[in-house]
Amino acid sequence: MSLQITNQDLDFESTIFDIRSRLSTDVASWELALEEYKALWKRLKPWSSREWIKKRETFLGHECVQCGSHTPPFVVQHLWHPMKFDLIFKMLSDHEWTQFKQNYVENLAAPLREERKTCPYCGSMSLYFVDSLQLWTCIKCKKRAKDPVIKKVLTRDGGHKLRILKQENFRKNCELFKKKQWAKNGKMALLILLEQTIHYINLEGATTFCKKCAFLWDKKGLRLCQKCGSKWHMLIFPCCIPCASKK
Ligand SMILES: [Zn+2]
Ligand SMILES: [Zn+2]
Ligand SMILES: [Zn+2]
Repeated sequence: MSLQITNQDLDFESTIFDIRSRLSTDVASWELALEEYKALWKRLKPWSSREWIKKRETFLGHECVQCGSHTPPFVVQHLWHPMKFDLIFKMLSDHEWTQFKQNYVENLAAPLREERKTCPYCGSMSLYFVDSLQLWTCIKCKKRAKDPVIKKVLTRDGGHKLRILKQENFRKNCELFKKKQWAKNGKMALLILLEQTIHYINLEGATTFCKKCAFLWDKKGLRLCQKCGSKWHMLIFPCCIPCASKK
């Protein structure tokens, strides 16, 4: 299939909606839709569209929200960006993947397990029954109990057998699972990304900055300290160093 974006005068926003609608109705595979999404960003920027310029005009204030400057020009400053596709995909998939591996190994191990009496205090399987007391005694922690805890543990050669079983098909099954996961979560991840992009171009969470504040934020990763309002600090910190060391 070839890319659908051919028109140079495409509008960013309507193309995003178009990609989303074809993806959610399965007219486009998520792989194709992702290609289109990336190609769109290469070809156009949302702030180049007429819609954006209109939105920008009604959105912009007359004062820099960060430093209070009243000197134009002002810019729309985004304080967040849509996440990377790979990261969204990973967030969706990591938990399932761990779960899959655990279940897979557990299914192999289940027939290799047997019930054993264990110490309720330390979990040791070394117990003996004292007839005169009618109690179980743990060799390891020396504590006594009326009833041991029954646990299913691997048989003596279970560990060895399990290792062999895992070697046989584990990789093949992992690949199969990943393929399925890829098909399912790829679409989901891209729908989330498109949703975030729509919020982004709707200027949600954006604000009015002066040119200097915008430059320092975007290019240097610096913001003005909100406590003292005079020093600059890296975006990852909550305030500047002098303010952080003040109590
Ligand atoms: Zn400013
Ligand atoms: Zn014990
Ligand atoms: Zn400060």
